[in-house]
Amino acid sequence: MQPKVPITVATGDGIGPEIMTQTLRVLEAAGAALEPEFIEVGEQVYRSGYSSGIHPAAWESLRRTRVLLKAPITTPLGGGYKSLNVTLRKTLGLYANVRPTRSLFPAVATRHPKLDVVIIRENEEDLYAGIEHQQTPDVVQCLKLVSRPGCEKIVRYAFAYCRQHGRRKLTCMTKDNIMKLTDGLFHRVFQEVGQEYPDIEQEHQIIDIGTARLADTPERYDVVVTLNLYGDIISDVVAQIAGSVGLAGSANIGDQGALFEAIHGSAPDIAGQNVANPSGLLQAAVLMLVHLGQTEAAARVHNAWLCALEDGCHTADIYHPETSRARLSTSEFADAVIERL
Ligand code: NAD
Repeated sequence: MQPKVPITVATGDGIGPEIMTQTLRVLEAAGAALEPEFIEVGEQVYRSGYSSGIHPAAWESLRRTRVLLKAPITTPLGGGYKSLNVTLRKTLGLYANVRPTRSLFPAVATRHPKLDVVIIRENEEDLYAGIEHQQTPDVVQCLKLVSRPGCEKIVRYAFAYCRQHGRRKLTCMTKDNIMKLTDGLFHRVFQEVGQEYPDIEQEHQIIDIGTARLADTPERYDVVVTLNLYGDIISDVVAQIAGSVGLAGSANIGDQGALFEAIHGSAPDIAGQNVANPSGLLQAAVLMLVHLGQTEAAARVHNAWLCALEDGCHTADIYHPETSRARLSTSEFADAVIERL
């Protein structure tokens, strides 16, 4: 038997504990060789006085495992709190945020049956760099930070990803017609690094028209590389037009470790009702298994998940009278996946 690999697990806020419990059930039933170590992050930790949202002891587990499976957390509004997601990404050097989405048509209703897009988002810089100031009581400022090493790292990662995954085209999206220095640098690095990858088709689009085209004809896109904030927004767009934000997972990859999570937030509007779709976190867990080299378990979970969806086992967010056989709760959907392992 394969030795169990320790991973750090954060159950999160809102729907987080519900979707994490079901995801871990599926992983265990699939025979994934994992030893979860639970840490506390999010609302409770913020409330107990840690403005970073993470307990100092949790870093010890992360330093040891270097792999975090994380459910979404609720970021408290107002001053004095730091975004835990941004802190984790920066502390662990998670420079690449990879968000694959594929249409599951006809199992899941969508107007875009040929959608198959990977968004690769720069994860440490841009307006998320955390440089915000109160200048006067009525004026606040947030600085956009873009560095050449940051651009080179993510652009090179995106081209290498295309080669490794047999993807034919990489689209770079920026707003360099307006932000000539910051976005301009990202675009220029894309052109420079692109010369090393003549086998990959390359194009650049201004982010506004690019997003409009992505929402209208996603089938013309393959892999997209972009800055942090744009990537955050367009990956939600792509997941939603494929059926639901609840369907997509993401891998945050860095030199010091990796973090896997659903692309959506803690969905407080449906928390505690056992109705959330656990698919995003389950897909993140599949990416984690591949990262850990447990490809057989990854394939088993992915195939069982696809079979459940194809058999019309759907949670409320993707329920459609023509394609769904049953409107399942979070735990019933996990049961349906486990039955098909
Ligand atoms: P959200 O993604 O939580 O929810 C947006 C909408 O999508 C809601 O209607 C919700 O019910 C629905 N939805 C989301 N996930 C779903 C799922 N798995 N199944 C079914 N429906 C689902 O976005 P929000 O409401 O803007 O944010 C809520 C909180 O989440 C905020 O505090 C925000 O800061 C936080 N957030 C956290 C992360 C993270 O931890 N990585 C990411 C984004 C937002």
